[in-house]
Amino acid sequence: MSLTLLWLRHDLRLADNPMFQFESPPEHLLCVHVLDRAWLSPLPGLDVPRIGPARLRFLWESLITLRGELLRRGSDLLVRVGDPVTVVADLAARHGASQVRVRREAGWDEAQASARLAERLGEGVELWQSDGGLLYDEARLPMSVAALPRSFSAFRRRVERDAVVPGATPAPVTLPPWPEAAPRGFPALGKVCSLAARWACDDRASFRFAGGEAQGLARLEHYLWQTGAVARYKQTRNGLLGADFSTRFSPWLAHGCLSARQVHDAVRAWEAEHGASESSDWVIFELLWRDYFHWAARQEGAALFGARRLVPADEPFRAWCEGRTGLPFIDAAMRELAATGWLSNRARQNVASYLVHELGGDWRLGAAWFEHALLDFDVASNWGNWRYVAGVGRDPRGHRFDVLWQAERYDPEGSYVSHWLPHLAKLPPGSARHRPWSVVKEHHQETP
Ligand SMILES: Cc1cc2nc3c(=O)[nH]c(=O)nc-3n(C[C@H](O)[C@H](O)[C@H](O)COP(=O)(O)OP(=O)(O)OC[C@H]3O[C@@H](n4cnc5c(N)ncnc54)[C@H](O)[C@@H]3O)c2cc1C
Repeated sequence: MSLTLLWLRHDLRLADNPMFQFESPPEHLLCVHVLDRAWLSPLPGLDVPRIGPARLRFLWESLITLRGELLRRGSDLLVRVGDPVTVVADLAARHGASQVRVRREAGWDEAQASARLAERLGEGVELWQSDGGLLYDEARLPMSVAALPRSFSAFRRRVERDAVVPGATPAPVTLPPWPEAAPRGFPALGKVCSLAARWACDDRASFRFAGGEAQGLARLEHYLWQTGAVARYKQTRNGLLGADFSTRFSPWLAHGCLSARQVHDAVRAWEAEHGASESSDWVIFELLWRDYFHWAARQEGAALFGARRLVPADEPFRAWCEGRTGLPFIDAAMRELAATGWLSNRARQNVASYLVHELGGDWRLGAAWFEHALLDFDVASNWGNWRYVAGVGRDPRGHRFDVLWQAERYDPEGSYVSHWLPHLAKLPPGSARHRPWSVVKEHHQETP
């Protein structure tokens, strides 16, 4: 009897997922997701868990949807909480797996876990690893990961000239049956974390995210075909309020409910009917940034997270987290993040810059807070963007934003600020004239 165990991590979808593609299918298939117990423990330097309630809830929704899709195809899903390597290795041994499949991830911890699993698997059990979820696989990159260019622009030029994005593959119609003796199903969210079960998005959010492949595809349909918002993306992407100023694909991409190639194919299909534009192409440009951060994280390994030990959070940092720095533009954003689990790219850049360049805070604490709070936390994009803003690592220039100038430019009526800080009357345009710090404009065409 042949049995394949799929260890699903950040790839919670059936379509365009190499994990579900078999040249010759095994007789039985066991699909497993393990919530790493370490994610429920506090981050170094902070007293909050690595995974906050918003993301945990999104993850559970994604798993419920995935289970439904697997059941429809004759399979199922088992979800456990624990040490993933131990759980997967034990299940593989107990049920006689001949192959264990897992996606290669950008994160150092995930890569280490795969390596530990390889050591734990019994003789004759193959560890099959694939890429997936990005525009380009490693095999399609026109350079090795070790030779990844230091600048995004150089990377972009090379892949656009020398590589082709392959089409997304369809979901399998049927799957091999579940091994009879294997357990199925998963614990209720409340048992895992009562906070996550009770977490509800703030009523002031302009958009409600719901986890799952079907929900991700519905958002894709909405943004392209139903509203045509993609035609205006380049002009609206720096928005702060509203549901459609940017794609909002990030939580689904981060959990692997959507793949970048699915987005790519859908955008190109939309362009074939409506005409290509700078706007539609810019969505692909942003996905390329995501690919770039992924490969940069793979190249950097543990160095992605910085070298020194973290010092515990101090009061200015806590004020930043809780949105009480006294600077309305920053406080509004940090409150939005805490209340909804999401933040626009414009706001993320500003709050990160403010913490690092104005408060003199530790970028790694900021990144750790984002890791806790974001629905769309993605190890490569998060830590990579924080490094970019802080000017550590690949791009030592640092990207300091003049936050008052940004507030005037992107929130001229103070609408965003008064939405999240309703106790403040609308700020009159240009009210914040006093500039206590130096001004460095970030008008670089290729900022992410
Ligand atoms: C400090 C900081 C931390 C960040 N942390 C994360 C994170 O943990 N997870 C995450 O997905 N993005 C992160 N980003 C990138 C970006 O802010 C979000 O991807 C974007 O705001 C998500 O909204 P959207 O889906 O509407 O993006 P859109 O503007 O519609 O872009 C489409 C897609 O392109 C990708 N993308 C866009 N901008 C970037 C970028 N700068 N870097 C990498 N990918 C990008 C995302 O997958 C996004 O869904 C971070 C940015 C900063 C400045």
